[in-house]
Parts: sequence; C-alpha cells; structure tokens
Amino acid sequence: MLIDTHSHISFKAYDKDREEVIKRTRDEGVVCIDVGTKYETSKNAVELAEKNDNIYAAIGMHPIHIKTDLMKLRMDEEEGAFAPLGEEYDREKYKNLVLADRSESGKNKIVAIGEIGLDYYYKPKTTARLEQFKELQKKVFIEQLDLASELDLPVIVHCRMAFDDLYEILKNRKNRGVIHCFTGTLEEAEKFIALGFYLGINGIIFKLDLDEVIKKTPLDKILIETDCPYLTPPLARRSPEGEGGRNEPIFVKYVAERIAELKGITFDEVASATTQNAKNLFKI
Ligand SMILES: [Zn+2]
Repeated sequence: MLIDTHSHISFKAYDKDREEVIKRTRDEGVVCIDVGTKYETSKNAVELAEKNDNIYAAIGMHPIHIKTDLMKLRMDEEEGAFAPLGEEYDREKYKNLVLADRSESGKNKIVAIGEIGLDYYYKPKTTARLEQFKELQKKVFIEQLDLASELDLPVIVHCRMAFDDLYEILKNRKNRGVIHCFTGTLEEAEKFIALGFYLGINGIIFKLDLDEVIKKTPLDKILIETDCPYLTPPLARRSPEGEGGRNEPIFVKYVAERIAELKGITFDEVASATTQNAKNLFKI
C-alpha cells in the first residue's frame, strides 16, 4: 500500500473523469490525502473524503490565495491562468469544517491543516510593498498554525523561496507536520527535520537535483506525494493515464521507485516506511 500524502483531485483538472481516477486509485491500493488550497477546494476535499474510504482531507488556505491589493494579478494554479485573486482568511469557516467533520454526523476524515505556508514567487515589485506582502503571508500562516494547534492537527506546509522566514516562524512553535514538495538545500532539510518535520518528496525530484537531500534524509522522515495534477513523473507520461501530462495518485509509485534507487534499498522498504510515516503523522 502507498499513501499519496498530497493530491488535489478536487481541482478542475479532474472534472471530466474524477470517478475513474478515484477508481484507479482504489484498484491500485493507493490511499490519498486530498489537500484544499482555499475554502472552496477545502470543502470539496472534505466531501470527496466523506464519499471515499481511501481518501482523507486537509483544509487550509494556500498563501497565493490571500486577498491583497499589493499586486494586481497572480497565477491561479488551479485555473492555469493569471487572475485577480483573493480570499479573506476566515478562521471560523475553516474551524467549522473540522468541527462538522468531528461531530456525530461527520466522518472524521480531516487529518491536517494545509496547504498553508509562504510563497514569495509572485511578488510586488517595490521593496515597501514586498515587505507588506511578506508580513501579510506570515500573519495568515501563523493564524492557521494556531488553528492546527488548537485542533491538535498536523500541518501541510507549502514553501517557495521563503525557507528562512519559514524556519524563523516554525522554530519557536510546537506544530508538527510536513514540508511538502521540499526543494531546499540539505542544510535546510536538516534544520526542519531537527524541528520534527517530515519532508514531502514528489515528482519535482525529476526536475530539480534533490539527490543528496534524499540520500541523506532518514527514511523515517520522508513522506511521498504527487501534488497532482502537477509535477507528473516522466515515466508516468508513457502510460495511457498520464499521456496527457496530468498527474494522479497512482503515479506516486514512481516517486517511491526513485527514492529506493537513490538510497539503494527496495521499493517495498520505501513503500512500507513512508506508509507508516504517513499513518504516524496523520493518524490514519
Ligand atoms: Zn499542493
């Protein structure tokens, strides 16, 4: 069994064939955590998890969705287009999703707060605006870290071009979780592991050189993920399901295979260790 700890099957990319994708996931014995990025996708992730026993949900607001006047347009990665974005973070709305899920009529399928974090990739041009933009992201991130602590849930952290600021925030807190789609240096990896965090490894390892990070990171600190529909492993593109270039949870096996190859161990060792890690962190 493999656990894809980061998928986005509730995104529009699967509107035409979501049920088939979920069926393939189930048939291959893959369990996945569907991760929300704003209120709407968080709610959809919970609905999907409630309907499918092999799907769990994470809810949260991704930094690129924070409402701001500091920039006119940003890339909306769900829509694949530049758009004026913005959601005001409403703690109570997100908290209520968890409370409903934990109530008698709920299914207790929300296993994390995420994805939340810092993303300085699309940014305002002036220094003054950039500083305000970073402060806004940090504020919303901290509010969500507090919510995770209050609800005793782990966090799924997104970080792009912001590892220093991320570390400054996390080092003084007790949150546990995963640095998803890890793309930092070995030194950065070691710092987050020392704080108790896992590293989420996905198909980006076929684009960026993370070989040393993977070789030196203990297996009991690695989670595997797809971040589907993005980051499709090259081998997946040769299969009928992946030939359009879209990623999906069953392709998490290619990430496990590559980790096994780099560490000189078997696929089964990677599969059983990463599955156990996911069970430990997310209590599934
Ligand atoms: Zn994601």
